Amino acid sequence: MNSFYMPTKIFSGENIIQENYKEFIKLGKKALIVTGRGSSKKNGSLQDVQEALNRASIGYIIFDEIEENPSLETIEKAGELGRKEKIDFIIGIGGGSPLDSSKVIGILVKNTSICGEDVFLKPNLKSVDIVAVPTTSGTGSEVTQYAIVTLHKEKTKKNYGQSIFPIISFLDPRYTLETPLKITVNTAVDAFSHLVEGYLNKNANILTDAIAETGMKIWGECIDSLLSGNLDIKIREKLMFASTLGGILIAQTGTSLPHGMGYALTYNKDLPHGLANGVLYVEYLRVFKYREKVDKIHKILGIDSYEKFEEILRKLTKVQINLTDVEIEEYARGMIENKGKLANHPEEITYEELLNIYKRSFQ
Ligand code: NAP
Ligand code: ZN
Repeated sequence: MNSFYMPTKIFSGENIIQENYKEFIKLGKKALIVTGRGSSKKNGSLQDVQEALNRASIGYIIFDEIEENPSLETIEKAGELGRKEKIDFIIGIGGGSPLDSSKVIGILVKNTSICGEDVFLKPNLKSVDIVAVPTTSGTGSEVTQYAIVTLHKEKTKKNYGQSIFPIISFLDPRYTLETPLKITVNTAVDAFSHLVEGYLNKNANILTDAIAETGMKIWGECIDSLLSGNLDIKIREKLMFASTLGGILIAQTGTSLPHGMGYALTYNKDLPHGLANGVLYVEYLRVFKYREKVDKIHKILGIDSYEKFEEILRKLTKVQINLTDVEIEEYARGMIENKGKLANHPEEITYEELLNIYKRSFQ
């Protein structure tokens, strides 16, 4: 991998949407706002977008039914609405779920004759413009081309196989100020997992390593606050930057084993995405045979020893679920078939090693 592509225009800072409301004018006359059921109405993000659109004299409609780990069915429903209302562009507000959904909805609006399943089958589909307003600091979806959709027919979550980057992203840490600690930690662990999987990646290069190391350093400065729950706006801003850097990174490198292995835990055991990856991390990092980069990570994070690093990871990803041997074998088989994620892991890995990552993580 010797290319670097990140076409999203990023605005960041407190009140950044209001200050830049004119950015919306270039995108058309009518917007579809895509968001979740509740949080954007409480954290100020929806109101800021509505006010900005009003100032810019742009009409809008709201679809506020995106669930966590969005299903193709919900996305198709929003796509129908967007088509019927002839919207020009989409503003996704929320965590990774509404942001990812916006990209797929954008494709359905742009290509009026296709259905949701076609998005996963036809190559190189275009979308209407997407603006992203993240309200979690985790997925980095505001700067990635990916969208992860729950496909109930296939009993799993899957990337849609298209490449749609948001045209603009507005990063305002104020929207995350009141986020409950559990969601803050789980999403922060997701950002961490992007930074590490992009760093320990077959596609890593000098540019991506620079981003990974900067992101990990910033994330490391938040560890004490994540453990204590004492999160002020400065820390919230750092978490948001670390998350966006993680997104810029995986947009180049992709993710690897924990992401591939975590999807089964989210789908079958309902673990939030970040936690589902994070719980596998101690064992995932132990699997590396070539350890030079692995052994640098805790130092970049500002942690004294590798043992302390593992202890912190365990504290941030505590989880109580039981997995049977049959379930573990099924998940490990699923991962061994996930050729894309396996290819991003920089070393050979066997089915037994994958099995052991699951087993030891839940012992
Ligand atoms: P999410 O599923 O978008 O949201 C999780 C929960 O957090 C929801 O209940 C949501 O409430 C709430 N929430 C969002 N913002 C909040 C805020 N500011 N304050 C309080 N609560 C808030 O969570 P996520 O972890 O950000 O996204 C996970 C999804 O992204 C998964 O489907 C994952 O696979 C995907 N993902 C995508 C990428 C990518 O590159 N595209 C990378 C990693 C993960 P409401 O529903 O009421 O809004
Ligand atoms: Zn992730």
